[in-house]
Amino acid sequence: MSGSLAALKSRLNNRKAEAAAKKAQYIRPHKFAPGKNRVRILPGWNAASPDVFYHDYGMHYVKDRENKTAAVYVCTEKTYGKDCPVCSAVYEGIRLAKDTGNTSMEKLISQARATPRVLVNALIRESDEPNKPVILELPSGVFDQMVDQMMTFAEDGVDVLSVTEGHDFIVTKSGSGLDTEYSVSLAPKPTAVTYDASLVVDLAAYCSQESEQGLLKAVNATTAVTGLPAPKSMALAAPARTGTHGGSEAGAFITPPAAAAVAASAPAAAVGAAAVLSAAASAADEAEKELAALEGELMEEAPWEADEVAVEPTPAPAASAAPSVDLAEEINASDDDLDSILDGLDDL
Ligand SMILES: [Zn+2]
Repeated sequence: MSGSLAALKSRLNNRKAEAAAKKAQYIRPHKFAPGKNRVRILPGWNAASPDVFYHDYGMHYVKDRENKTAAVYVCTEKTYGKDCPVCSAVYEGIRLAKDTGNTSMEKLISQARATPRVLVNALIRESDEPNKPVILELPSGVFDQMVDQMMTFAEDGVDVLSVTEGHDFIVTKSGSGLDTEYSVSLAPKPTAVTYDASLVVDLAAYCSQESEQGLLKAVNATTAVTGLPAPKSMALAAPARTGTHGGSEAGAFITPPAAAAVAASAPAAAVGAAAVLSAAASAADEAEKELAALEGELMEEAPWEADEVAVEPTPAPAASAAPSVDLAEEINASDDDLDSILDGLDDL
């Protein structure tokens, strides 16, 4: 294939990935059910770097003084490790509430903190659709335990993520709310899995939910509770990109062009599984320490199930239902076109 054709093909493939990522924005992550969950974690979404199989993730659920959800927005700190103006506004509010002894405001505003989560693509093995990949949302403590066990197996030369001879995880969830506990183990027998690879989601693109509008809404909702001015970091940390979607209420969930996020977060290919895992483990350790410090300073509550009791977000509220359908149709149509063009290129 000539250079220009290869470039065209790569360009069309990128376009296709972007379209798929846009569509994926409307998917809600799957969470563990109470009791026993048998799941298979799938290797990375990009065939060139199968070891990149997870993405950190956090959302702010900001409530108003009536305890109703006023804004839902991605936490840029928990998701990308970037300064998060919503976190700043929340922590300033908690400090103010503590200083003034306002326990009800402290409680309300504390709920707006983002809980650290990790997203993976997975098969829910004991379900109606055991071969259909879903986005699985893991409490960070569960992911840490999974990483520990994967490392133990990797030291013995076993790739838990292998499609042909990997292992299922068995996660048992018990209790609820702040008393939720998880136990994590690996199924002893390796198994082969089959699944529709086109349903595996690019999680870097999926997490790319920033929008100026969504950020403003979340910060305003926070400062409406605290009465404090918006944090100074606001202007600096506001995403430079602007979405192409004016006026939608679902700003946080409709993505500006995803390609930039993919390019920025895609690590170099051919990173060893062990290196990735230990990086994940040390990042998790650091996050945990930081969180513990914050917890000690600000709160006595256990953080990690705090959002289970929160009102669930609505990624596609009624107001945006119509545009999202149009978008999905448009994307579907362009997918088919792209497929036939890409097939044509393959024949050359
Ligand atoms: Zn945040």
